[in-house]
Amino acid sequence: MTLLPTLDTIARVDLLDGPTSIQRLTRIEEALDLAARGIRLFAKRDDTMTLGGGGNKLRKLEFHLGHARAIEADTLISTGGLQSNHARLTAAAAAKHGFACELYLSRMVPKDGVDYEANGNVLLDDLFGAKPVLLAHGVNGLAVAEARTAELGRAGRKALVIPLGGSTPTGALGYARCAREIAEQEASMDLRFDRVVVPNGSSGTQAGLVSGYVAMGRDPTVVRAYSVLADAAKARASTVSLANETLVLLGLSSSVAGDDVRIDDTQLGGGYGVPTDAMKAAVRLAASHEGLLLDPVYSGKAFAGLLHDLRSGAVRDGETVLFVVTGGVPGLFAYREDLAT
Ligand SMILES: *Cc1c(COP(=O)(O)O)cnc(C)c1O
Repeated sequence: MTLLPTLDTIARVDLLDGPTSIQRLTRIEEALDLAARGIRLFAKRDDTMTLGGGGNKLRKLEFHLGHARAIEADTLISTGGLQSNHARLTAAAAAKHGFACELYLSRMVPKDGVDYEANGNVLLDDLFGAKPVLLAHGVNGLAVAEARTAELGRAGRKALVIPLGGSTPTGALGYARCAREIAEQEASMDLRFDRVVVPNGSSGTQAGLVSGYVAMGRDPTVVRAYSVLADAAKARASTVSLANETLVLLGLSSSVAGDDVRIDDTQLGGGYGVPTDAMKAAVRLAASHEGLLLDPVYSGKAFAGLLHDLRSGAVRDGETVLFVVTGGVPGLFAYREDLAT
């Protein structure tokens, strides 16, 4: 297939093992009696990548590492919350491809305790050989990362700063590529997804998919996100601008507007990283019916939103739905106290 040929001309380092699989969630279909309504539910397993525990950030990091190679950087610096999956996967990709890695992490979630502060992603950052530094409250991680880059530069080193969630236009290319992968899988499965569901945190995943759909001449409103960080208006604004910048990188003159980007913020609850009852129920349903692990911060809340819309009838009869499982499993261990019965 020659969809999106420009994508293949942009520097990228392979971090995946080929396309991630798409599986039907038959036991959840049965539990919700979806067959009676002609609804089919599938999961795209972006949590099943072999590097560093896998997850959506690896798709973005493929292009960030491509850029790092192109500018001959020797160090990757990233920022994020204490339990950032992006930080963990930056550390893993750096380890695998011979970059030094520094992580400047902040308390983005009102949560403490030994599980949150030392287990999950924090433990893995350390095993991958990165230096996770927890910044004091109010310190801007990006400013610290940029100051450190200048300092390394004076010592003859070269660092690339990958900001929060890897959600720059370069990173979003990873999900434009995923949109193409989904289209190829649709062709081989002989179906079309009416709805492709993702969480929206730093917006790169949704923006990348939206730009990919537009670039392929497809309807971008197929992509539906549940926001886990910002309210819908804010998340929509950042997703629209990121999608448009990504379309520019793809060499296209088309653009999207607010109506093209569908975001639901009803699952935010108390805010980023704050557990909700609906998230806990969604994590349990996926685990107990499918052996499928969702995470408490992103995919658990997005799946809670999808379950709500399946039950309420917002997902219409006859729809074929794809839920993108974005990873984040280490977060389960950081949220032990919230999830344990
Ligand atoms: C970062 C992340 C997301 C959200 O992706 P964005 O591109 O930041 O919107 C979803 N799921 C998991 C597991 C993540 O780590």
